[in-house]
Amino acid sequence: MLSDSYGRVATDLRVSLTDRCNLRCSYCMPPEGLDWLPSADQLTDDELIRLLGIAVGRLGIKEVRFTGGEPLLRRGLPDIVARTAALTPRPEISLTTNGIGLARLAGPLRAAGLDRINVSLDTLEADTFVRLARRNRLADVLAGLAAAAEAGLTPVKVNAVLMRDVNDHEAVDLLQFCLGHGYELRFIEQMPLDAQHGWRRESMVTADEILAMLAVKFDLVADDPADRGSAPAEAFLIDGGPAKVGVIGSVTRPFCGTCDRVRLTADGQVRNCLFARQESDLRGPLRSGAGDDELAERWRQAVASKLPGHGINDPGFLQPARPMSAIGG
Ligand code: SAM
Repeated sequence: MLSDSYGRVATDLRVSLTDRCNLRCSYCMPPEGLDWLPSADQLTDDELIRLLGIAVGRLGIKEVRFTGGEPLLRRGLPDIVARTAALTPRPEISLTTNGIGLARLAGPLRAAGLDRINVSLDTLEADTFVRLARRNRLADVLAGLAAAAEAGLTPVKVNAVLMRDVNDHEAVDLLQFCLGHGYELRFIEQMPLDAQHGWRRESMVTADEILAMLAVKFDLVADDPADRGSAPAEAFLIDGGPAKVGVIGSVTRPFCGTCDRVRLTADGQVRNCLFARQESDLRGPLRSGAGDDELAERWRQAVASKLPGHGINDPGFLQPARPMSAIGG
């Protein structure tokens, strides 16, 4: 098991398949992009599948979520999903994507064994999309969402980050759109993980503000907290249910005490928290011939040292050196 000294057990592995992205969302990356990881530093498919086999076979990982960067940019993704689905015991397999290219890939990914999908959609306005993501790709994202539903990756979940004076007028519109299409919407508070270090607490749209905006149009009742488990999102029943909306208040309503996540970067580093300032290298030992026992033990040690909380609200908080795009959100 991957347990830490505060009694938490990691069963949910987030795997970054690449640090590259085809969008430049301003809360994540500068317009010019970043210095991408050299390809020789990235785990090959075989190296990745070996580590995933250790994770599910020896370390109790039950869910593998592929993310990035933009995971649809990873060549051979359906094959990676199929090889993951063939592991014993078979993990749940999910994907977080910006949806660009999903119109083509949703069917093959479903056929390969993908169980669930989250698609990021911050705005329904083409001009706001360009302002926020610096690319004119809204139509591709909407087509990707429709293809995911068509392929049976249901319920499709949608992630939205609201930015003050950019898209924060769209909370109600986004929810109405998702309700109309049967997608499950979750709002995520903006976190200090952008490569430019431009996050400011005072400009963050908080969970309280999001709920107040939605309350103008919808009757929201908090779902039974017992049903939340380790989920990052607080769920609210809309107009009596059964439809729900989620709010992930990572900054103002942290949920570190129930965290069951651990991360593996595209270059083979274990991170026990999004905000960790230390990583544990698995790629080096793996390439120098370490056996599965040794790799599993290194992974256990990496999780054992997990801190009790992310510390964003502590006066001495320092943002991690790696940005979100290179960690895997
Ligand atoms: N490219 C994929 C996507 O867009 O979903 C996967 C990676 S992206 C880092 C995963 C999620 O993190 C997206 O929903 C994105 O909006 C969110 N995200 C990125 N930077 C963030 C930040 N600074 N604060 C909160 N959420 C962020």
